[in-house]
Amino acid sequence: MNRRKPDWTPEGAGAEFASSVVSPQESQSSPYQRKKGRVWDLDTLEEGIKAGTLTHISKAITLVESNSEKHFAAAQELLTRLLPAAGKSIRIGITGVPGVGKSSFIELFGMHLIEQGKKVAVLAIDPSSTLSRGSILGDKTRMEKLSTHEMSFIRPSPSSGVLGGVARKTRESIVICEAAGFDVILIETVGVGQSETTVRSMVDFFLLMQITGAGDELQGIKKGIMELADLIVVNKADGDNIQPAQAAAREYNNALHYIRHATQNWDTKAITCSSRTGDGIPQIWEIISEFTQQTTANGIFKQRRLAQTAQWFEELLSEAVLSSFYRSSKVIDRLPELKQRVKEGKIPVAYAVSILLEDLAL
Ligand code: GDP
Repeated sequence: MNRRKPDWTPEGAGAEFASSVVSPQESQSSPYQRKKGRVWDLDTLEEGIKAGTLTHISKAITLVESNSEKHFAAAQELLTRLLPAAGKSIRIGITGVPGVGKSSFIELFGMHLIEQGKKVAVLAIDPSSTLSRGSILGDKTRMEKLSTHEMSFIRPSPSSGVLGGVARKTRESIVICEAAGFDVILIETVGVGQSETTVRSMVDFFLLMQITGAGDELQGIKKGIMELADLIVVNKADGDNIQPAQAAAREYNNALHYIRHATQNWDTKAITCSSRTGDGIPQIWEIISEFTQQTTANGIFKQRRLAQTAQWFEELLSEAVLSSFYRSSKVIDRLPELKQRVKEGKIPVAYAVSILLEDLAL
């Protein structure tokens, strides 16, 4: 990068002063400062991502995952450049309790997709990893083949921040992976808190993974979660467990007659599969392909994406407005006193709120 000598220098300033000044024109396309003096070179990152280079994809995801305010501008600039090349994948959410077989399934399913010529990215949303040190997702040792295959990219869950923040990072990682040419993006999550609803709000197709248990199959599953699913997969249908798994799938299919389906004009159904033998894996991809064809033809695929983006925008906006409200010095000054007066019954609640809002001219 060309540095220019400034028009003036402080008295006694050495060469290092001049070298730290960058003309405004240059600064627009200049690399963004990174920790420890390194820089984010956005041109190189953009080119690398578009060429599908894994190290650049990883670096870019690290950039969007950063909580530092100075990285925010660089991340948003990069995403703005990548957006025109994004949006062309099929985004699939996969949920199920720990131990149901998600990692084993993703290994086989991912390899099946690669055999069909697809490039596969796996991202995870694991809110538990932000609460405890350990993560209940991402036993990537079960994705041995997939994780080393050149047609795949696997990224564990961002490990800091609340669910909303983690979700933002995942949505932005989707843009990066799509711009890098991944055809299928798998987003894995566990049923912790709101994580299933959050993943549903960023995917085209949602797969709910189950296993057979003792007694009534439906007891352990919340109706609300079935209503999010486009497909229920009863995993571990192998050996002695084939028949119980088929019986469980029948039970789910019966129950599905009585609930609202996640996608208009699409009949959610339950099938069995084994992530050990691979039985059922090709059928699952066939079902997803049929879903994509059908929802693309009737416009629902596009409609859902537009609605998801609009909803995301509104969510982020509400969060930002709320947080800037509480950070404003006027609010910080007046809030304790108004709270106290409300508590003591000296002023009506709605009036106290209106005073705060008027102060901010909101
Ligand atoms: P996750 O926690 O949902 O990611 O589940 P894992 O993929 O780690 O699997 C949990 C355990 O179930 C492991 O011991 C797997 O070997 C086993 N497992 C996963 N899928 C199957 C399957 O289809 N059949 C059988 N028999 N075992 C499975």
